[in-house]
Amino acid sequence: QAKSQGMGRYEIFNTNMHTKSLARLQLETDLRRSLERQEFEVYYQPIIHLESQQICGFEALLRWQHPTRGMISPLEFIPLAEETGLITTIGCWVLYQACTQVKIWQAEFPQLYPLTMSVNLSAKQFLQPNLLDQIEQTIIATNCERTHLKLELTESVLMNNAVTISQTLTQIRQLGMQLSIDDFGTGYSSLSYLHRFPLNTLKIDRSFISTLAGSNEHLAIVQTIITLAHNLNMDVTAEGVETPEQMAILRELKCEQAQGYLFAKPMNVKDTNLLLEHAHQTAL
Ligand code: C2E
Ligand code: MG
Ligand code: MG
Ligand code: MG
Repeated sequence: QAKSQGMGRYEIFNTNMHTKSLARLQLETDLRRSLERQEFEVYYQPIIHLESQQICGFEALLRWQHPTRGMISPLEFIPLAEETGLITTIGCWVLYQACTQVKIWQAEFPQLYPLTMSVNLSAKQFLQPNLLDQIEQTIIATNCERTHLKLELTESVLMNNAVTISQTLTQIRQLGMQLSIDDFGTGYSSLSYLHRFPLNTLKIDRSFISTLAGSNEHLAIVQTIITLAHNLNMDVTAEGVETPEQMAILRELKCEQAQGYLFAKPMNVKDTNLLLEHAHQTAL
């Protein structure tokens, strides 16, 4: 009896594995077709300048509307896009959309705070040899203000490829674009290394912000991160701000920018237009 149970379990495990790899394969096939089928859409989440309470920029966040599975999170398909190399094409498309959009918004709403556009780049993208050409071509094609483009990279990308990437980052800055370190505090970044990279903005991961109000330790950590960033000539964006209390603390700590559901969720172009029109009206 024990043996048949064992067999049964083995079979279930095997079937699971099989189903899993089939599902993955299917998703991979779908991902390959998604661009031409126009299933991707870039959403935009506002970034708020805390002192003036004005929108000072947006982060471009990719969405995949799968024909049968509905909306699939980037946390699920970006790693797959990385593994398959599709990230190069997809990333290029996102960059083009984001640059086109910020150009339009800047022209339409000149009274607003100069808007930056933040775009996430994954490790593979930063390591691809023609990245700089790709960015240059996109900037020229879209006629977007290069100083308003901000590229986000994570700590692990920095730390795992410090030597290779350092030169690329310097070139990006020399060309006039900006750089942010994303999800700060979740990786294993060596603090002694941070000053070697030419970064403009440090984004504190939302895991620190969500517990900010309830924990003295987290308050101390956030305060220390902000001081560190300022000492290294970086400004700070807090991610995942959801309550007025968190916002008040961050303002007191002289954190420059904030992003989170308290202000707005990532939105499609149409909804973002409405938000900007409203901001524009109140600024007049
Ligand atoms: P991220 O770059 O750290 O982006 C911030 C994430 O936090 C977004 O998740 C956003 O929707 C979410 N968020 C913002 N405010 C709040 C809040 O107040 N509360 C909570 N709970 N969440 C909040 P999203 O859009 O699901 O993206 C997840 C990750 O996928 C991004 O994290 C980024 O690493 C990656 N990603 C998204 N778009 C792209 C892309 O175009 N290219 C690349 N390479 N990665 C992307
Ligand atoms: Mg980001
Ligand atoms: Mg982040
Ligand atoms: Mg994140």
